[in-house]
Amino acid sequence: MGQAVDTVRVVVTWRCNRVCGYCCNRKPAVRAAFRPARLHEVDWPAYRIVCITGGEPLLYPERIERVARLASPRSYVVLYTNGLLLDRSGAESLERAGVHALNVSLHDPRTFREQYAATRRAVRGTGLRVQFYVWNGHSHLVSTWPGTWRFWVVDNCDRSNEDRVVLADWLEEV
Ligand code: SF4
Repeated sequence: MGQAVDTVRVVVTWRCNRVCGYCCNRKPAVRAAFRPARLHEVDWPAYRIVCITGGEPLLYPERIERVARLASPRSYVVLYTNGLLLDRSGAESLERAGVHALNVSLHDPRTFREQYAATRRAVRGTGLRVQFYVWNGHSHLVSTWPGTWRFWVVDNCDRSNEDRVVLADWLEEV
């Protein structure tokens, strides 16, 4: 028997400020797994976890804040981001809007240290939790650094306990 669906993964844009060769989002099959829906068509209180993702959501912080404010007060709201556009005032705005945690993916090993430090500076003093997300082939570069780390493997994008929605309010052709 499958797991009960308790999570919704919400794409607020397909656009990104990086171009990663392994990006799942450019694959038609991955995009097709996201059901187009408008903000008012999503049953927000039904979800214990709301994952806001893209593309790069921080290209449109107002969209993140709109979704976070719609999520149930009982929901745990996680922003998936590459973190390149995150700064202190942005982190504070996200927290005020109801985001609880950031999943920050680090993609370029030449900038891991700099981006890791910048992320930690941005969230210092906020209640935002941070989990860093790195390809498992690079895990040896970061695994001794303080913080919470998860390591991903290429093409493992599936989750059985989530609904996938792309917000038709902001659907772009990319
Ligand atoms: S940062 Fe993430 S969303 Fe953007 S291109 Fe890379 S893998 Fe795709």
